[in-house]
Amino acid sequence: MGIGGLLRSLLPYVTPYRWLLLITLLLTFLGSLMAQVNAVVLDRTVDAINALLHVDGGFQWVQAARILVIVSAVLLGKELLSALVTFGQRVFGEKIRINVSRDLSLRVVDRILQFRMAYFSQDGNEPGKLQTRIDRGIMSLSNTVKNFFIDILPLFTSAVLALILMYSANVYVGLVATVIIPVYFWITTVQGRRMKGWRQRVFGTHQQLNHGIMNIIESMGVIKSFNRERLEADKQAALQEQSTDQQMQTRRISFLFEGLKSFVEQIGTVLIIILTAYLVLIDYPGMSIGKIMYHVMLFSNVSAPIRQLHRIYDDLNDALVYAEGFFGILDAEQEVESSGNHSSDHVSGRFELCNVEFTYPSGTHAIRNLSMTIEPGKTTALVGLSGAGKSTIVNLLDKFYFPDSGTITLDGVPLNEWDTQSLRDNIGLVLQKNHIFSGTIEENIRYGRPDATDEEVLDAARKAYIYDQVVALPDGFQSNALQLSGGQQQRIAIARMFLKNPPIIFLDEPTASLDAIATEQIKNSIDAIKQGRTVIVISHNIGQIIDSDTIYVLDTGCVVQHGSPQSVYQQGGLYKKILDASARSMNIDKISDTVKM
Ligand code: ADP
Repeated sequence: MGIGGLLRSLLPYVTPYRWLLLITLLLTFLGSLMAQVNAVVLDRTVDAINALLHVDGGFQWVQAARILVIVSAVLLGKELLSALVTFGQRVFGEKIRINVSRDLSLRVVDRILQFRMAYFSQDGNEPGKLQTRIDRGIMSLSNTVKNFFIDILPLFTSAVLALILMYSANVYVGLVATVIIPVYFWITTVQGRRMKGWRQRVFGTHQQLNHGIMNIIESMGVIKSFNRERLEADKQAALQEQSTDQQMQTRRISFLFEGLKSFVEQIGTVLIIILTAYLVLIDYPGMSIGKIMYHVMLFSNVSAPIRQLHRIYDDLNDALVYAEGFFGILDAEQEVESSGNHSSDHVSGRFELCNVEFTYPSGTHAIRNLSMTIEPGKTTALVGLSGAGKSTIVNLLDKFYFPDSGTITLDGVPLNEWDTQSLRDNIGLVLQKNHIFSGTIEENIRYGRPDATDEEVLDAARKAYIYDQVVALPDGFQSNALQLSGGQQQRIAIARMFLKNPPIIFLDEPTASLDAIATEQIKNSIDAIKQGRTVIVISHNIGQIIDSDTIYVLDTGCVVQHGSPQSVYQQGGLYKKILDASARSMNIDKISDTVKM
């Protein structure tokens, strides 16, 4: 992306604020005009006082006082006006920046909410990386707006006006000022290039340092149990040293170039003084002592923006890099989740999968030539070792991903013809790790059906066996849900599903993080909700598998056995192996002896 492309992409976000923009530009122009007042006033004052010195008959006190009063009034008045104009220009400029930043944030959130799940499994779209792309994108794009409208535009307008005034007073002086500008530009470009590599290195080390500290905090238990505090501190110290060296090097380069630019600016000033003094001495038409000061001051207005140029050059380079990643998200039209038109409020829940093949965007071939039927109103268990593809099937049935080939239908209608929202309205999903949002327990349960009454929320909590524990908390249902234990959070998620009350339920290891008592309670409430619904359960818990009507045994993405739990067990094979191993690992004989006693 070039600068043109960047500004073009940014334009739609700036145009809604065109009136603000117009006011800002107007104020900018006014401010630039006022920036030249000092030079003009000084020119006139010096010449007027100089003239007084040459009037016969002694010093003219009255005239001198008049000049001073006028000069003071003009300068103070101009300062006052200038302060107001600058204030207005900054406030409006900042308003544009903040609004653009807000609009970009809203747009990107809208966008990622529309994306299909596969987008988030792609390399480079991990949450941390996406967040960095979004943060950096918004920051650098709103900085571009600020650089352009608040910082650089006023300075450049002022520089152009100053140059015009210089040329109109004297072409030669104008030429000298113009000749200095390319030298400045050249030094700035070299500085930008030299600094760029170092800035990236500083940024990289900074990220590593941040990541390192986060890692230490997250792994504190391991660090302490292995007594590796020293090792971690040494790792950080080495990074800190690297960071210090890089920062110093960056500052050194920066100071060197700043010095060089000051020097060139001084050369420019000296050249202008020499030239204007010479012109005054040879009595060049239109030149006076006042004009020496006039040109020196105008020249400082010309060089001011160029002094800032390298910072803006760096920012713009950053913006070009980050904008590409950011607009990459906004423009990823192909990633938007597709939806069909079919919807239904009375779903029976018969899923049929026929010769389904599926590969994750990362390249893992997770499902191979898989066919199965999920009977409506029945409970189907998916059994298999970890990584066999059980959760992937649930992902496919929920339309989080689309198969590479083969068909999946619900009630005879292919999933891609289903309206995605209608399909998901009919499905309740409880995962092993349920996402509890930061917020109260009540808000988290209500997520299942935002328009539910308070009584319905409480009822859902009762059904999920969490009610008693919640009311015992100091803030009850208003407590922060993130403070609950894993098992309690799981029951909040189950309560959320009770509230949604869908005809189809997918349970992916719903009791994995629960204790035995809670598991039994949840099992009872799940048994209750199962009645008349289509349920798919994935579990390593024998009790939940054995209760199902049908089981499908999966191995590396293929169905290897299926039927009723008893018949599949009698076939031998993988299911028998898994069930026997579970029974042995649970020491089921001893448990049964103990329980009998
Ligand atoms: P199971 O639920 O049987 O333990 P999964 O369906 O989770 O197995 O995984 C099947 C295969 O797909 C595994 O090899 C797993 O590593 C891979 N996989 C699962 N989720 C993703 C994902 N989001 N991106 C890439 N590969 C995945």
